[in-house]
Amino acid sequence: MATLTLDRITKRFGALTVIPELSLTIPDGAFCVLVGPSGCGKSTLLRIIAGLEPMSSGRLLIDGVDMSGAEPPERGVAMVFQSYALYPHMTVGRNIGFGLEIARTARADIVDRVGRAAEKLKLGAYLSRKPRELSGGQRQRVAIGRAMTRKPKLFLLDEPLSNLDAALRVGMRVEIARLKAELASTMIYVTHDQVEAMTLADMIVVMNGGRIEQVGAPLDLYERPESLFVAGFIGSPAMNFLPGRVVVARDGRATVALDLGPRIDVALSRPVDAGAAVTLGIRPEHVQLVAPEAAVWRGPAAVVEMLGSDTFLHLSTGGDNLLVRDSKGRRARRGEEIGVAFPADACHLFDAAGVRVSRDRAPALEGAA
Ligand code: ADP
Ligand code: MG
Repeated sequence: MATLTLDRITKRFGALTVIPELSLTIPDGAFCVLVGPSGCGKSTLLRIIAGLEPMSSGRLLIDGVDMSGAEPPERGVAMVFQSYALYPHMTVGRNIGFGLEIARTARADIVDRVGRAAEKLKLGAYLSRKPRELSGGQRQRVAIGRAMTRKPKLFLLDEPLSNLDAALRVGMRVEIARLKAELASTMIYVTHDQVEAMTLADMIVVMNGGRIEQVGAPLDLYERPESLFVAGFIGSPAMNFLPGRVVVARDGRATVALDLGPRIDVALSRPVDAGAAVTLGIRPEHVQLVAPEAAVWRGPAAVVEMLGSDTFLHLSTGGDNLLVRDSKGRRARRGEEIGVAFPADACHLFDAAGVRVSRDRAPALEGAA
């Protein structure tokens, strides 16, 4: 295990700055997920950590030791790639042990470590097969096994599940969650899939355009997104955004008139001016379904998705549909008028620059949705 410190790391490709002065500390033993849209610099950052890509400036420390210029083998880092990168002509066993073979590890030690990795990854029965005789999920496990045998201090995984089909992905996600307890490495896991991030991470780093938007535990990001970007990125299905304007702002509270009509009173963490354009965010699971006479707003269901456990109602607003999740899974008809309320404690407010201005959700709301 190791603590990783990134100190003002900058990466340029020619004139293009892909990562501007990024600083981050990942504590010993953490499972850290780097998440963000495609092209935001996740792979580049991971390759810099592995020593496969030079940084333009900044420092990288592993356990307090400056490793900025160190070669990959000196760093005690192992990386698993999206493409598996297995040797097709070697057996599974040799693929898993190949890093050790290159490092001239004693034969008996290789056999022992390969055996243990194979056992953990449920590959014991496949050691003499070739990669082409394995499923996608099994091949990815071989790639993980090869990284495991090197007993890395830092375990880096770049979108390891994105080449797998949806059902396998869920299975492997559970496997990785199980492995995380056994590996005793600091793990950095890159994905563009926020569900993977939420389910696997101790610590999520949300990236956007080479910058860190927010760092936090999964539920902290869900409950208190600091920006419109994080609010829209974390949570599935995504948060509803309703445009509006501040009509009154005083004593740490703002009254917001939504373009949709209703007025909502929100507690503030930062001042906003009366008249300012704002965006009110509310998650589909926090919109309340209420009797039409008690509704602050009503709209027809343009789309009704009945999944059994949940019903998703897409209500027409004239702009983007308002998505409401009904966890009672009740039946509804397309075109039916649905009445809703927006509990003030469940509303997130963002200013025109996309910065959060509302206070935390009150704990009283827990379980109310
Ligand atoms: P992500 O993994 O988040 O999808 P990448 O780290 O692969 O993003 O890429 C970040 C940005 O850097 C992208 O705009 C990409 O086009 C650019 N980039 C990556 N590698 C190179 C390279 N070798 N030369 C020039 N630009 C690159
Ligand atoms: Mg990538």
